[in-house]
Amino acid sequence: MNDNKNKLVTLSYIVLMVILIVILNSTRNNSGTQHGETGQNIDPAAYKEAVEPNAQTTKMEYLNQVLENIATTDNRPVKKSAADDGENPFAAKISSDIAIAKLIQGNIKFAKGESTYPNLDLERRLLAATESQAAYAFATVLSCSDSRVPVEAIFDAGVMDIFVVRVAGNVCDVDERASIEYGLTHVNTPVLVVMGHTQCGAVTAVTHAIQGRDEIESNLLELVDNIQPAVKKAIELNPDVKGDDIIPIATEENVWTSIEDLFIRSPVTRELVTKGYVKVVGAVYDIGTGNINWLSEEKPLDILAKVEASPEKAGITSCHTEEKHHGNAVKEEKIEGAEESAVKEDSVSAEESTVKDDGATDEESAVKENGAADETPEATEEDNDQKETPQAAEPVTDKA
Ligand SMILES: [Zn+2]
Repeated sequence: MNDNKNKLVTLSYIVLMVILIVILNSTRNNSGTQHGETGQNIDPAAYKEAVEPNAQTTKMEYLNQVLENIATTDNRPVKKSAADDGENPFAAKISSDIAIAKLIQGNIKFAKGESTYPNLDLERRLLAATESQAAYAFATVLSCSDSRVPVEAIFDAGVMDIFVVRVAGNVCDVDERASIEYGLTHVNTPVLVVMGHTQCGAVTAVTHAIQGRDEIESNLLELVDNIQPAVKKAIELNPDVKGDDIIPIATEENVWTSIEDLFIRSPVTRELVTKGYVKVVGAVYDIGTGNINWLSEEKPLDILAKVEASPEKAGITSCHTEEKHHGNAVKEEKIEGAEESAVKEDSVSAEESTVKDDGATDEESAVKENGAADETPEATEEDNDQKETPQAAEPVTDKA
């Protein structure tokens, strides 16, 4: 009799607990869906902690909570506020912080083998064919072309989620800047991620060339002047780090160099970041673990401040002129570099560069309506001063 009584008490207790859990959950969900506005549920301190690397569990818990509490997880556009309409082209998008949270969350799912493969079905494709991507895509990502870095997959994202710019070594030269500007000003993504990755062949090749261990292959020549400053800086700041140990440091430095190259030559990006419409973040993807190491969120702002104070930055009015000139100047330098440095297939590279140079000029002249007539020779000189030639690597070679 007593036994039965005890069983009954235990059972009642369990039922009571289950009811309590159900009530608690429904309360939490209800309070979440009431928050239609973006960004208002972010606790800055907790957010900062969440994006710090090596805190995956806390990070995931916090991000799940944030994303549960907003009505934007299905990626539908949500108005920030009526007052922003008209002036702010990002008013219809999720906030930068929410966009970053979605990327972090997607990457954690991918790395844990828990991808959900969203937005890949017929319904999404029909949506893509009938609606503007600007209403849906929430991030622009500049990444390496490496086959081990499939961008949408590593963020567990699908169709109309990410505007992707991929180039070996995730450099930020003329075409990449133009593509990024499209992603920010036309697709209106509230975040730009510049993402390097471990074991990057382009960074490794440039590092080995600077260390005098190998020659640059002709197909990488176009990338040398973009990556080289990063590798040199990594070596100069870490004189005790030898051999391939410098490559991870150079890889991170290469991310900052790309961001700096973007800020210097893209007044519109500087403006969007200054106004708070867009956040630029650096990251390094680990091809082995699948995890993304999110770099300092403050550093891009430091780089922006440095660029804003620099006389070398491109001005607002001459954006297209500067872009075009920069392209020509860089390509001319590369031809020079091809002749001067010890390169395989010297003549072929120089020839290819010349052909590319002419082609690019014609194409750009045809596409770009304004600006071409306003070109000033000063812009070219500025460009020449700013970029380093591959030859400048020689003193570093002695050091290494
Ligand atoms: Zn790479």
